[in-house]
Amino acid sequence: MSNSALSLLFATNNQHKIIEVREILGDQWTITGLRESGLNTELPETGNTLEANAVEKATFIKDMGIRACFAEDSGLEVDALDGAPGVHTARYAGPKATAQENNRKLLDALQGIHNRTARFRAVIALWWQGELHTFEGSVEGHISEQTEGEQGFGYDPLFIPLGYEHTFAVLPGSVKASISHRAKAVQQLAEFLRAKA
Ligand code: IMP
Repeated sequence: MSNSALSLLFATNNQHKIIEVREILGDQWTITGLRESGLNTELPETGNTLEANAVEKATFIKDMGIRACFAEDSGLEVDALDGAPGVHTARYAGPKATAQENNRKLLDALQGIHNRTARFRAVIALWWQGELHTFEGSVEGHISEQTEGEQGFGYDPLFIPLGYEHTFAVLPGSVKASISHRAKAVQQLAEFLRAKA
């Protein structure tokens, strides 16, 4: 890769995801989100899998004429709920649900349940030089009995990664940036681009 920063559009309106991806990639990369790129658009998300949704979002932006772009779709799988909320993670408590409402619904669903193991999964779809590539990452953990911490977003106040005693909303951001589902998928994306760019 050359010394100048590689510029890549991240097809998302989720500012939390943009901040995390920048922290994972470091300053050799210039990552811009949709709004910063002047693209004021909502992304379609109609698939039945994380991969289908990631591909759908990236392709939507590629078809607007952006040659190098990637999108990410992520979700939480809870074993005692047969993998729910899964692909419906963002809208678990309803189409416009807040993170607090989603967290509340998850705590209610797990009330009295001993097995609280879960994992976050992320799939990244990248359009690069006319070809589509996908990268995946996951992190194992469990759902705590109550919310804890203020950092991060979504289900971070409920998710305790394996090997830790506190949720992602309490642990330093640098921990999440090295072990999370997103970190693992983004690291693969970075390896691919280092080899190609
Ligand atoms: P989507 O990828 O935009 O469909 O949304 C995925 C949803 O999963 C988010 O809105 C969050 O609720 C949840 N989620 C994904 N990644 C994380 C994470 O790193 N921490 C907490 N919640 C997450």
